[in-house]
Amino acid sequence: MERKKNYLIVGAGVAGLTVATHLIEKEQSVTVIDSGVNHSSIIAAGMITPLVFRRITKGWRVDDFVPALQQFYRKMEAETVSSFYHPIQIRRMFSSEEERGLWIKKQAREDFQNFMYQITKADEIYDRALNPFGSGRLKNGAYINPPVFLSAMKKWISNNGTLLTETLDYKTLEDGTFNGNHYSDVIFCEGYQGKNNPWFGYLPLNQTKGETLTIHSEGIPEDESVNRKCFILPLGNQQFKVGSTYEWHTTSLHTTEKARKIILDKAAHLTNEPIAVIDQAAGIRPTVEDRRPLIGTHSEKKNYHIFNGLGTKGYLLAPKLAEEFVDYLINRTTLNKEMDIKRFER
Ligand SMILES: Cc1cc2nc3c(=O)[nH]c(=O)nc-3n(C[C@H](O)[C@H](O)[C@H](O)COP(=O)(O)OP(=O)(O)OC[C@H]3O[C@@H](n4cnc5c(N)ncnc54)[C@H](O)[C@@H]3O)c2cc1C
Repeated sequence: MERKKNYLIVGAGVAGLTVATHLIEKEQSVTVIDSGVNHSSIIAAGMITPLVFRRITKGWRVDDFVPALQQFYRKMEAETVSSFYHPIQIRRMFSSEEERGLWIKKQAREDFQNFMYQITKADEIYDRALNPFGSGRLKNGAYINPPVFLSAMKKWISNNGTLLTETLDYKTLEDGTFNGNHYSDVIFCEGYQGKNNPWFGYLPLNQTKGETLTIHSEGIPEDESVNRKCFILPLGNQQFKVGSTYEWHTTSLHTTEKARKIILDKAAHLTNEPIAVIDQAAGIRPTVEDRRPLIGTHSEKKNYHIFNGLGTKGYLLAPKLAEEFVDYLINRTTLNKEMDIKRFER
């Protein structure tokens, strides 16, 4: 292993925190700087959904990501003595006969066994959600509780490194020196605000707004999450998170009546139980057109790196990708080409 280096990480969302954790585990010195205001990781539902519905395909590299995230979140729960990783049954209410047929084909395949149960008679006639085409259950679904995760992890980073609550003004960072301290490497994990980064702003990072509702309902089942057109995720005490919307080309963080109506209309495809909205939240996802993260090193400034573009699935992707990225930084392994920013090199 290379000698101990000191890293400055900009951003303490799920991206920055997972990278920081893996670096600390490799006995590197880590300082994380975060503005203290988060508009994505804290807003996320935190769901781990390994399948892509409608066409019933596996998400990108889920065979790698799912075991890694289970190990990571469980380990960090133990380290931080907190509870944020919650396995949960996710039930897909099929949208069409065609989708049901696709599920039946896939459930026979060896490579889908980790992610889907065989449809049972009870799944076909399931009546706790509106059910015109039957349903199927996922294996290895879960959700991370974002506020608990972020707060526990920040505390852990403070205990094992340095956490600064401050906005980094890029002009004050001079070749790795900030506030009179020199850092051997700087890693930018600013989420959608990475668009403003003077060294990596050329990358095709998009900003995709999303809104969710927190609702109260007496009748919706609390023992699983149901999904069609939207998800309903039980939070306990008859509260549920429902979402989410997708809106491009806006960085407005305001919640809107339009999004509230879209979500409630979608929820009506799952349930006709009375619903009371108790909260609404808006955030911005750091997305990329080719749906792959933006990870790697600046072509000229070799001590400046980026770990961003986690898109709609930060909680699913981050644990494994951060591990691979830290391995690349320390042991000079090669990054997966699909996520390496070299694909956009000018
Ligand atoms: C409505 C919604 C629902 C979602 N649901 C899910 C889900 O169910 N499952 C899932 O896996 N993902 C979900 N996501 C996606 C997930 O939230 C993102 O993939 C993830 O949060 C991105 O994390 P990040 O750390 O890159 O960015 P962020 O969480 O945005 O963190 C970036 C941090 O950098 C800091 N920062 C930026 N610039 C500076 C600076 N100059 N100085 C100091 N600090 C700075 C910010 O303050 C912020 O705290 C959802 C997102 C939204 C909006």
